[in-house]
Amino acid sequence: MTGPRVLIVGAGIAGLAAGRALARHGIVADIVERVGEWRAEGTGMYLPANAVRALDELGLADAVEERGARVRRQRVVDHRGRSIAGMDVDDIWGSGRCLAVHRADLHRILLDATRDLPVRLGAVLTGLAGDDQVKATFSDGSAGVYDLVIGADGVHSSVRGLVFGARAARPVGQVCWRFVAEGFPGIRDWTLYTGPGRAFLTVGIGGDRVYCYADLMGESLDPSLNENWRARFRDFADPIPALLDQGGDALPGLIEEVSPPVWSAGRVVLIGDAAHASSPNLAQGAAMAVEDALVLADLISNRPVDEALTAYRERRSPRVSWVQDQTHHRDKLRKLHPAVRKLSLRLAASKFFVAPYRPLRERP
Ligand SMILES: Cc1cc2nc3c(=O)[nH]c(=O)nc-3n(C[C@H](O)[C@H](O)[C@H](O)COP(=O)(O)OP(=O)(O)OC[C@H]3O[C@@H](n4cnc5c(N)ncnc54)[C@H](O)[C@@H]3O)c2cc1C
Repeated sequence: MTGPRVLIVGAGIAGLAAGRALARHGIVADIVERVGEWRAEGTGMYLPANAVRALDELGLADAVEERGARVRRQRVVDHRGRSIAGMDVDDIWGSGRCLAVHRADLHRILLDATRDLPVRLGAVLTGLAGDDQVKATFSDGSAGVYDLVIGADGVHSSVRGLVFGARAARPVGQVCWRFVAEGFPGIRDWTLYTGPGRAFLTVGIGGDRVYCYADLMGESLDPSLNENWRARFRDFADPIPALLDQGGDALPGLIEEVSPPVWSAGRVVLIGDAAHASSPNLAQGAAMAVEDALVLADLISNRPVDEALTAYRERRSPRVSWVQDQTHHRDKLRKLHPAVRKLSLRLAASKFFVAPYRPLRERP
């Protein structure tokens, strides 16, 4: 083994991307994951062009396209299906491809790409101690000493809790349900149906599968709402009612963010949702996670750890803050009166579709 001893906590998108990126620089990290066994879980994901470019740098974008689908257009319609605004993704990104994929397929691709790395399942991080050398302890009684610990353990990160104290995620004001419906080969575009206080997104994820995401304004998921949420979308235009009939095992969720982002302390650094979970309204979660992994691995491979962590924060902070500011802006748009929102979208479609992504066209 060469380079620093590195522990990655969490084998989700960020953790596996970091494992792969470090391995490409000759650094073999230990990866621990609390889940004891992988199951094909989750629903769909939209991956804008900067996410696909980052996956391409890991050599994985073609595999994602093979398992998923190319998305060529984004559209916003009202809840009756009447067009409000739309744009080809080429006009948003200039170049590059946008994809949509089942989350389980993306995860499988990342797992296959890291199969030579030591990934330990069923290991929950319980403690971190030390400055230059960090001692990590795990629920099974084992321990290890590392030069660097990377917290890639998601929005409710234990690493963030252990090292940064009470920097908890907070609700942004939406509750959501996600599912994948089959038998809809005609649905391909990213299409957002908007009604007062409600939104329903559809996008094809390959074959005849459609990823559906429905949300309502709210900060908690009470059980009766969870039972009856479909009723709130029954007045939406076709094909929403047909898609809803397939939504039996929808995945409920509360949208939360970690804002401002939390980066590093001593020899512990955060990446992905652990550092900066954001509202998914720009679909930048995977993009930011994989970009974090690429930038951090590159820096770790060519300078001392402490310098690398300072440089990582400096490189990532403006970009991630931009994304979070844009998600806040999109959330504010939702609170406008529907007629005002429609008019502003019609008059300034590029403000909605292009402006939030413009700086992200550049490499991270
Ligand atoms: C409703 C919704 C829709 C979204 N849609 C999109 C989208 O369309 N496109 C997009 O790009 N992003 C989307 N996102 C965001 C995206 O899901 C996240 O940004 C992404 O999953 C972050 O990856 P991660 O690896 O940081 O975290 P995670 O995917 O949460 O992975 C964290 C991993 O760490 C493990 N772990 C946790 N704690 C511990 C511990 N103590 N010890 C060991 N292991 C641990 C977990 O089991 C998990 O495997 C969406 C998010 C939400 C909520």
